[in-house]
Amino acid sequence: MKAVQLPNWKSEPRLIEVPDPTPGPGQVVLKIAGAGLCHSDMHLLHDFEEGMLPWHVPFILGHENAGYVHAVGEGVTSVSIGQPVAVYGPWGCGRCEACGRGQDTYCIDPLGGYDKAFGGGLGTDGGQAEYMLVPDARSLVPIPEGMDPVAAAPLTDAGLTPYHAIALSRSKMVPGSNVVVIGAGGLGHMGIQIIKATTAANVVAVDVKPAARELAAKSGADTVLDGSAEDIVAQIKDATGGGAEVVIDFVGIDSTMATAVGSCKYQSDMTLVGVGGGSFPFNLYAPPYETAMRSIYWGTRKELAEVLNLAARGLITPEYTTYSLDNALDAYAAMAAGELTGRAVITP
Ligand code: NAD
Ligand code: ZN
Ligand code: ZN
Repeated sequence: MKAVQLPNWKSEPRLIEVPDPTPGPGQVVLKIAGAGLCHSDMHLLHDFEEGMLPWHVPFILGHENAGYVHAVGEGVTSVSIGQPVAVYGPWGCGRCEACGRGQDTYCIDPLGGYDKAFGGGLGTDGGQAEYMLVPDARSLVPIPEGMDPVAAAPLTDAGLTPYHAIALSRSKMVPGSNVVVIGAGGLGHMGIQIIKATTAANVVAVDVKPAARELAAKSGADTVLDGSAEDIVAQIKDATGGGAEVVIDFVGIDSTMATAVGSCKYQSDMTLVGVGGGSFPFNLYAPPYETAMRSIYWGTRKELAEVLNLAARGLITPEYTTYSLDNALDAYAAMAAGELTGRAVITP
Protein backbone atom coordinates (compact mmCIF):
# COMPACT_ATOMS: atom_id res chain seq x y z
CA MET A 1 0.00 0.00 0.00
CA LYS A 2 0.96 3.65 -0.33
CA ALA A 3 1.73 5.64 2.82
CA VAL A 4 3.18 8.98 3.97
CA GLN A 5 6.23 8.27 6.09
CA LEU A 6 8.35 10.41 8.37
CA PRO A 7 11.71 8.87 7.40
CA ASN A 8 13.87 10.68 9.93
CA TRP A 9 13.77 13.49 12.49
CA LYS A 10 14.22 16.94 10.95
CA SER A 11 13.20 15.72 7.52
CA GLU A 12 10.34 16.05 5.06
CA PRO A 13 7.68 13.33 4.70
CA ARG A 14 7.83 10.99 1.72
CA LEU A 15 5.37 8.81 -0.14
CA ILE A 16 6.42 5.15 0.13
CA GLU A 17 5.14 1.68 -0.70
CA VAL A 18 4.87 -0.75 2.26
CA PRO A 19 3.16 -4.13 2.84
CA ASP A 20 -0.51 -4.01 3.90
CA PRO A 21 -0.91 -4.53 7.67
CA THR A 22 -2.63 -7.68 9.00
CA PRO A 23 -4.41 -7.82 12.38
CA GLY A 24 -3.18 -9.98 15.26
CA PRO A 25 -5.42 -11.10 18.14
CA GLY A 26 -7.60 -8.22 19.41
CA GLN A 27 -6.43 -5.95 16.59
CA VAL A 28 -8.28 -4.28 13.72
CA VAL A 29 -7.18 -3.09 10.29
CA LEU A 30 -9.08 -0.09 8.92
CA LYS A 31 -9.49 0.96 5.32
CA ILE A 32 -8.78 4.67 5.77
CA ALA A 33 -11.50 7.08 4.64
CA GLY A 34 -9.82 10.22 5.95
CA ALA A 35 -6.58 11.11 7.74
CA GLY A 36 -6.21 14.70 8.89
CA LEU A 37 -3.06 16.75 8.80
CA CYS A 38 -2.43 18.53 12.12
CA HIS A 39 -0.07 21.40 12.83
CA SER A 40 1.55 18.98 15.30
CA ASP A 41 2.76 17.08 12.22
CA MET A 42 4.76 20.22 11.31
CA HIS A 43 6.30 20.16 14.80
CA LEU A 44 7.03 16.42 14.38
CA LEU A 45 8.89 17.05 11.12
CA HIS A 46 10.96 19.98 12.28
CA ASP A 47 11.30 20.38 16.06
CA PHE A 48 12.80 17.13 17.35
CA GLU A 49 15.98 15.09 17.25
CA GLU A 50 16.50 11.46 18.24
CA GLY A 51 16.10 11.15 22.00
CA MET A 52 13.93 14.25 22.49
CA LEU A 53 10.73 12.19 22.16
CA PRO A 54 10.38 8.63 23.46
CA TRP A 55 9.60 7.42 19.90
CA HIS A 56 11.69 6.19 17.01
CA VAL A 57 11.61 7.02 13.30
CA PRO A 58 10.57 5.97 10.72
CA PHE A 59 6.79 5.72 11.06
CA ILE A 60 3.72 6.48 8.95
CA LEU A 61 2.24 9.89 9.78
CA GLY A 62 -1.41 10.70 10.50
CA HIS A 63 -2.97 10.79 14.00
CA GLU A 64 -6.50 11.97 13.02
CA ASN A 65 -8.08 8.93 11.47
CA ALA A 66 -11.41 7.43 10.48
CA GLY A 67 -12.38 4.65 8.11
CA TYR A 68 -14.09 1.32 7.64
CA VAL A 69 -13.31 -1.91 9.49
CA HIS A 70 -11.42 -3.97 6.89
CA ALA A 71 -10.17 -6.99 8.85
CA VAL A 72 -10.34 -8.09 12.48
CA GLY A 73 -8.03 -10.31 14.51
CA GLU A 74 -8.99 -13.23 16.73
CA GLY A 75 -11.37 -12.33 19.53
CA VAL A 76 -12.60 -8.99 18.16
CA THR A 77 -16.38 -8.84 18.53
CA SER A 78 -17.05 -5.14 19.22
CA VAL A 79 -16.92 -4.06 15.55
CA SER A 80 -17.99 -5.66 12.29
CA ILE A 81 -16.46 -5.69 8.82
CA GLY A 82 -17.42 -2.57 6.84
CA GLN A 83 -18.48 -0.59 9.93
CA PRO A 84 -17.46 3.11 9.84
CA VAL A 85 -15.37 4.02 12.88
CA ALA A 86 -13.25 6.88 14.20
CA VAL A 87 -9.93 6.17 15.89
CA TYR A 88 -9.42 7.41 19.45
CA GLY A 89 -5.80 8.39 18.90
CA PRO A 90 -3.85 7.94 22.17
CA TRP A 91 -3.27 4.25 22.82
CA GLY A 92 -2.99 3.27 26.50
CA CYS A 93 -2.83 -0.02 28.33
CA GLY A 94 -6.59 -0.13 28.97
CA ARG A 95 -6.07 -1.16 32.60
CA CYS A 96 -4.62 1.79 34.55
CA GLU A 97 -6.68 4.46 36.31
CA ALA A 98 -6.40 6.98 33.44
CA CYS A 99 -7.37 4.39 30.80
CA GLY A 100 -10.24 3.31 33.07
CA ARG A 101 -11.80 6.75 32.73
CA GLY A 102 -11.17 6.74 28.98
CA GLN A 103 -8.25 9.16 29.14
CA ASP A 104 -5.45 7.15 27.53
CA THR A 105 -3.40 10.34 27.11
CA TYR A 106 -2.25 9.96 30.70
CA CYS A 107 -1.78 6.17 30.71
CA ILE A 108 1.08 5.00 32.93
CA ASP A 109 1.95 2.11 30.59
CA PRO A 110 1.11 3.01 26.97
CA LEU A 111 0.93 0.27 24.34
CA GLY A 112 4.16 -0.28 22.47
CA GLY A 113 6.31 0.10 25.58
CA TYR A 114 6.91 3.82 25.17
CA ASP A 115 7.07 5.86 28.35
CA LYS A 116 4.70 8.56 27.06
CA ALA A 117 1.27 8.48 25.45
CA PHE A 118 1.58 7.55 21.84
CA GLY A 119 -0.65 6.39 19.02
CA GLY A 120 -0.88 5.86 15.29
CA GLY A 121 1.10 8.62 13.57
CA LEU A 122 2.87 9.45 16.85
CA GLY A 123 5.66 6.94 17.20
CA THR A 124 3.93 4.09 15.40
CA ASP A 125 2.30 3.75 11.99
CA GLY A 126 -0.64 6.14 11.51
CA GLY A 127 -3.45 6.66 9.05
CA GLN A 128 -1.96 8.58 6.13
CA ALA A 129 -2.03 5.34 4.18
CA GLU A 130 -4.51 3.04 2.48
CA TYR A 131 -4.81 0.84 5.58
CA MET A 132 -4.01 1.26 9.25
CA LEU A 133 -3.46 -1.23 12.05
CA VAL A 134 -5.24 -0.34 15.31
CA PRO A 135 -3.68 -2.46 18.07
CA ASP A 136 -6.79 -2.66 20.27
CA ALA A 137 -10.43 -2.61 19.16
CA ARG A 138 -11.27 -0.52 22.26
CA SER A 139 -9.68 2.48 20.48
CA LEU A 140 -12.48 2.54 17.89
CA VAL A 141 -15.54 4.76 18.32
CA PRO A 142 -18.56 4.11 16.05
CA ILE A 143 -19.39 6.91 13.60
CA PRO A 144 -23.07 7.86 13.90
CA GLU A 145 -25.31 6.86 11.01
CA GLY A 146 -25.39 9.26 8.08
CA MET A 147 -22.12 10.92 8.95
CA ASP A 148 -19.29 11.02 6.38
CA PRO A 149 -16.20 9.24 7.81
CA VAL A 150 -14.01 11.77 5.98
CA ALA A 151 -15.51 14.53 8.16
CA ALA A 152 -15.07 12.34 11.24
CA ALA A 153 -11.28 12.21 10.75
CA PRO A 154 -10.48 15.83 11.77
CA LEU A 155 -12.95 15.55 14.65
CA THR A 156 -10.68 12.99 16.36
CA ASP A 157 -8.14 15.71 17.18
CA ALA A 158 -9.09 19.13 15.74
CA GLY A 159 -12.54 18.51 17.27
CA LEU A 160 -11.65 16.47 20.35
CA THR A 161 -8.78 18.62 21.69
CA PRO A 162 -10.72 21.92 21.82
CA TYR A 163 -13.75 20.01 23.12
CA HIS A 164 -11.66 18.79 26.06
CA ALA A 165 -10.26 22.28 26.72
CA ILE A 166 -13.79 23.71 26.65
CA ALA A 167 -15.22 20.93 28.83
CA LEU A 168 -12.71 21.77 31.58
CA SER A 169 -13.92 25.40 31.66
CA ARG A 170 -17.56 24.99 30.69
CA SER A 171 -18.80 25.99 34.16
CA LYS A 172 -17.32 29.46 33.51
CA MET A 173 -18.94 29.79 30.06
CA VAL A 174 -22.24 31.06 31.41
CA PRO A 175 -24.53 33.52 29.58
CA GLY A 176 -22.81 36.90 29.51
CA SER A 177 -19.32 35.47 29.91
CA ASN A 178 -16.53 35.89 27.36
CA VAL A 179 -14.20 33.34 25.83
CA VAL A 180 -11.14 34.39 23.83
CA VAL A 181 -9.93 31.93 21.19
CA ILE A 182 -6.42 32.68 19.90
CA GLY A 183 -5.68 30.97 16.55
CA ALA A 184 -8.66 30.03 14.37
CA GLY A 185 -7.02 27.23 12.39
CA GLY A 186 -7.87 23.53 12.36
CA LEU A 187 -8.45 23.36 16.13
CA GLY A 188 -9.52 26.94 16.75
CA HIS A 189 -12.39 27.05 14.25
CA MET A 190 -13.75 23.84 15.78
CA GLY A 191 -13.31 25.34 19.25
CA ILE A 192 -15.42 28.37 18.30
CA GLN A 193 -18.19 26.13 16.96
CA ILE A 194 -18.09 23.88 20.02
CA ILE A 195 -18.36 26.86 22.41
CA LYS A 196 -21.33 28.21 20.43
CA ALA A 197 -22.99 24.76 20.26
CA THR A 198 -22.56 23.87 23.94
CA THR A 199 -22.59 27.19 25.86
CA ALA A 200 -24.11 30.67 25.77
CA ALA A 201 -20.77 32.49 26.06
CA ASN A 202 -19.66 35.35 23.84
CA VAL A 203 -16.68 34.37 21.66
CA VAL A 204 -13.85 36.72 20.69
CA ALA A 205 -11.60 35.12 18.07
CA VAL A 206 -8.10 36.35 17.26
CA ASP A 207 -5.98 35.37 14.25
CA VAL A 208 -3.25 36.98 12.19
CA LYS A 209 -4.52 35.54 8.87
CA PRO A 210 -7.46 37.11 7.01
CA ALA A 211 -8.77 33.72 5.75
CA ALA A 212 -8.71 32.34 9.29
CA ARG A 213 -10.59 35.40 10.56
CA GLU A 214 -13.23 34.80 7.89
CA LEU A 215 -13.51 31.17 9.02
CA ALA A 216 -13.79 32.34 12.64
CA ALA A 217 -16.73 34.57 11.72
CA LYS A 218 -18.35 31.77 9.71
CA SER A 219 -17.83 29.46 12.71
CA GLY A 220 -19.89 31.77 14.91
CA ALA A 221 -17.41 34.07 16.66
CA ASP A 222 -19.19 37.20 17.92
CA THR A 223 -16.12 39.39 17.49
CA VAL A 224 -13.11 38.69 15.29
CA LEU A 225 -9.84 40.57 15.78
CA ASP A 226 -6.53 40.83 13.93
CA GLY A 227 -3.88 39.30 16.20
CA SER A 228 -1.12 41.30 14.54
CA ALA A 229 -2.56 44.61 15.80
CA GLU A 230 -0.21 46.28 18.28
CA ASP A 231 -3.06 47.10 20.64
CA ILE A 232 -4.62 43.62 20.45
CA VAL A 233 -4.90 43.29 24.24
CA ALA A 234 -6.72 46.63 24.49
CA GLN A 235 -9.05 45.54 21.69
CA ILE A 236 -9.81 42.26 23.49
CA LYS A 237 -10.43 44.11 26.79
CA ASP A 238 -12.78 46.39 24.93
CA ALA A 239 -14.64 43.49 23.27
CA THR A 240 -14.96 41.59 26.57
CA GLY A 241 -15.85 44.50 28.83
CA GLY A 242 -12.56 44.36 30.72
CA GLY A 243 -11.32 40.80 30.30
CA ALA A 244 -12.44 37.25 29.56
CA GLU A 245 -13.53 34.46 31.89
CA VAL A 246 -11.78 31.91 29.66
CA VAL A 247 -8.86 32.24 27.23
CA ILE A 248 -7.71 29.36 25.04
CA ASP A 249 -4.40 29.77 23.21
CA PHE A 250 -4.19 27.50 20.14
CA VAL A 251 -0.81 28.96 19.10
CA GLY A 252 1.37 29.04 22.22
CA ILE A 253 4.23 31.35 21.22
CA ASP A 254 5.56 34.12 23.51
CA SER A 255 3.39 36.83 21.95
CA THR A 256 0.11 34.86 22.03
CA MET A 257 0.75 33.79 25.63
CA ALA A 258 1.31 37.45 26.54
CA THR A 259 -1.96 38.30 24.78
CA ALA A 260 -3.70 35.43 26.59
CA VAL A 261 -2.47 36.58 30.02
CA GLY A 262 -3.41 40.18 29.17
CA SER A 263 -6.93 39.08 28.19
CA CYS A 264 -7.74 37.40 31.51
CA LYS A 265 -9.66 39.02 34.34
CA TYR A 266 -9.70 37.87 37.97
CA GLN A 267 -10.42 34.14 38.44
CA SER A 268 -10.18 33.35 34.74
CA ASP A 269 -9.15 30.07 33.15
CA MET A 270 -6.26 30.25 30.72
CA THR A 271 -5.64 27.08 28.75
CA LEU A 272 -2.62 26.45 26.55
CA VAL A 273 -3.16 24.07 23.62
CA GLY A 274 -0.64 25.27 21.01
CA VAL A 275 2.76 23.64 20.80
CA GLY A 276 4.50 26.91 19.89
CA GLY A 277 7.09 26.53 22.65
CA GLY A 278 6.48 29.97 24.16
CA SER A 279 6.43 31.00 27.81
CA PHE A 280 5.70 34.03 29.96
CA PRO A 281 6.85 35.25 33.37
CA PHE A 282 4.45 34.19 36.11
CA ASN A 283 4.23 36.26 39.28
CA LEU A 284 1.72 37.39 41.86
CA TYR A 285 0.33 40.16 39.66
CA ALA A 286 0.27 38.45 36.27
CA PRO A 287 -1.99 36.82 35.35
CA PRO A 288 -4.74 38.45 37.48
CA TYR A 289 -5.37 36.91 40.94
CA GLU A 290 -6.81 33.40 41.07
CA THR A 291 -6.49 32.79 37.36
CA ALA A 292 -6.10 29.04 36.77
CA MET A 293 -3.65 28.03 34.09
CA ARG A 294 -3.35 24.66 32.48
CA SER A 295 -1.95 22.91 29.47
CA ILE A 296 -3.90 20.07 27.92
CA TYR A 297 -3.22 17.04 25.77
CA TRP A 298 -5.96 15.71 23.46
CA GLY A 299 -9.19 14.44 25.14
CA THR A 300 -11.08 11.38 26.35
CA ARG A 301 -12.80 8.54 24.49
CA LYS A 302 -16.21 9.60 25.82
CA GLU A 303 -15.60 13.17 24.65
CA LEU A 304 -14.83 11.88 21.15
CA ALA A 305 -18.24 10.19 21.07
CA GLU A 306 -19.77 13.52 22.19
CA VAL A 307 -17.94 15.44 19.43
CA LEU A 308 -19.17 12.95 16.82
CA ASN A 309 -22.69 13.34 18.19
CA LEU A 310 -22.51 17.14 17.82
CA ALA A 311 -21.32 16.80 14.22
CA ALA A 312 -23.86 14.13 13.29
CA ARG A 313 -26.61 16.52 14.45
CA GLY A 314 -25.17 19.34 12.35
CA LEU A 315 -24.25 21.46 15.39
CA ILE A 316 -20.58 21.60 14.39
CA THR A 317 -19.13 21.24 10.88
CA PRO A 318 -15.40 20.94 10.25
CA GLU A 319 -14.05 22.96 7.34
CA TYR A 320 -11.52 20.98 5.33
CA THR A 321 -9.83 20.49 1.97
CA THR A 322 -9.25 16.94 0.75
CA TYR A 323 -6.06 15.61 -0.85
CA SER A 324 -5.54 12.19 -2.42
CA LEU A 325 -2.71 10.06 -1.07
CA ASP A 326 -0.77 10.79 -4.29
CA ASN A 327 -1.07 14.52 -3.54
CA ALA A 328 -0.50 14.22 0.22
CA LEU A 329 2.86 15.97 0.08
CA ASP A 330 1.09 19.00 -1.45
CA ALA A 331 -1.00 19.18 1.73
CA TYR A 332 2.20 19.31 3.80
CA ALA A 333 3.57 22.05 1.54
CA ALA A 334 0.33 24.03 1.86
CA MET A 335 0.40 23.73 5.65
CA ALA A 336 4.07 24.77 5.79
CA ALA A 337 3.26 27.82 3.65
CA GLY A 338 0.30 28.74 5.88
CA GLU A 339 -2.06 28.36 2.92
CA LEU A 340 -4.59 26.02 4.56
CA THR A 341 -7.89 27.24 5.95
CA GLY A 342 -9.44 24.81 8.43
CA ARG A 343 -8.05 21.30 8.02
CA ALA A 344 -6.42 19.26 5.26
CA VAL A 345 -7.69 15.69 5.13
CA ILE A 346 -5.96 12.99 3.11
CA THR A 347 -8.52 10.68 1.52
CA PRO A 348 -6.88 7.51 0.15
P1 NAD B 1 -3.28 25.49 12.30
O1 NAD B 1 -2.02 25.77 11.59
O2 NAD B 1 -4.40 24.85 11.57
O3 NAD B 1 -3.87 26.82 12.95
C1 NAD B 1 -3.08 27.74 13.65
C2 NAD B 1 -3.77 29.09 13.51
O4 NAD B 1 -3.10 30.01 14.37
C3 NAD B 1 -3.69 29.65 12.09
O5 NAD B 1 -4.96 30.11 11.66
C4 NAD B 1 -2.71 30.81 12.22
O6 NAD B 1 -2.97 31.88 11.33
C5 NAD B 1 -2.96 31.23 13.66
N1 NAD B 1 -1.85 31.99 14.24
C6 NAD B 1 -0.52 31.81 14.03
N2 NAD B 1 0.18 32.75 14.72
C7 NAD B 1 -0.73 33.51 15.36
C8 NAD B 1 -0.61 34.64 16.22
N3 NAD B 1 0.57 35.14 16.55
N4 NAD B 1 -1.76 35.20 16.69
C9 NAD B 1 -2.97 34.69 16.35
N5 NAD B 1 -3.13 33.62 15.54
C10 NAD B 1 -2.02 33.04 15.05
O7 NAD B 1 -2.86 24.60 13.57
P2 NAD B 1 -3.75 23.53 14.35
O8 NAD B 1 -3.61 22.22 13.68
O9 NAD B 1 -5.08 24.10 14.63
O10 NAD B 1 -2.92 23.40 15.71
C11 NAD B 1 -2.82 24.49 16.59
C12 NAD B 1 -1.75 24.20 17.64
O11 NAD B 1 -2.24 23.20 18.55
C13 NAD B 1 -0.45 23.63 17.08
O12 NAD B 1 0.64 24.15 17.83
C14 NAD B 1 -0.59 22.15 17.30
O13 NAD B 1 0.64 21.51 17.33
C15 NAD B 1 -1.29 22.16 18.64
N6 NAD B 1 -2.03 20.95 19.03
C16 NAD B 1 -2.03 20.66 20.35
C17 NAD B 1 -2.76 19.58 20.82
C18 NAD B 1 -2.77 19.26 22.27
O14 NAD B 1 -3.30 18.21 22.64
N7 NAD B 1 -2.26 20.12 23.15
C19 NAD B 1 -3.48 18.78 19.92
C20 NAD B 1 -3.47 19.13 18.56
C21 NAD B 1 -2.74 20.23 18.12
ZN1 ZN C 1 -2.79 16.75 16.35
ZN1 ZN D 1 -3.30 2.83 30.85
